[in-house]
Amino acid sequence: MIVTIDGPAGAGKSTVARRLAGKLGIAYLDTGAMYRAIALRALRRGVDPEDQERLARMAGEAELSLDCRGDGVRVLLDGEDVTEAIRGMEVNQVTSLVAKVQGVRDVLVRQQQEIGRRLGSLVTEGRDQGSVVFPKADVKFVLDASVETRARRRCEELGDSGQDVSFDEVRTNLTERDDRDSPRWAPLLEPGRAIRIDTSDMTIDQVVDRLAGEVRDRSGTTP
Ligand code: C5P
Repeated sequence: MIVTIDGPAGAGKSTVARRLAGKLGIAYLDTGAMYRAIALRALRRGVDPEDQERLARMAGEAELSLDCRGDGVRVLLDGEDVTEAIRGMEVNQVTSLVAKVQGVRDVLVRQQQEIGRRLGSLVTEGRDQGSVVFPKADVKFVLDASVETRARRRCEELGDSGQDVSFDEVRTNLTERDDRDSPRWAPLLEPGRAIRIDTSDMTIDQVVDRLAGEVRDRSGTTP
């Protein structure tokens, strides 16, 4: 069973995907972490984010491995654990630039489909999972929330990992990312097939329960 969760940054996708996967007893895949790792590689190598050809080549050469578990995702890039390094503000900024490059997307989409084939069942989250990567997914969700809610959540997340950033900085960063990201995935979701949920006034538990209920209704399984 393939369950996709797409939506903008800060809508709660990662936590919800992880918890839902745990409830269903299947793996989960954090595709944002893959784009972040490629962005980190570009930053470290001083690759110009406008140099599309070099970015695509560099993405193809990266040795990327993800271990998505119940308590989070560990990311290995060229053999090094970059789990913490990919969550910084600088990587945040560069990732959406790198993710715009079609050659980079081609490399990562192929890897994600391969992971899907290998595992058979998974909950996967990102921006294009229900549209481009797994168009035949069994259940597709789009999570959203107001920009204020998303900025507050991101601030808390960054604060928890010891990064001191202002609400305004995070809000601006999110809005910029939305502008760059949403033209890419929003028009691609099939209307009527993806279930849209606004999580602004919901707790994580409520969101997970709602998604689990929808999966149960649609697939006849008992999460
Ligand atoms: O979800 P997360 O905030 O970790 O994603 C980081 C960035 O990676 C997004 O802002 C987006 O630019 C990019 N991304 C993407 N397609 C995906 C997942 C992430 O373009 N499937």
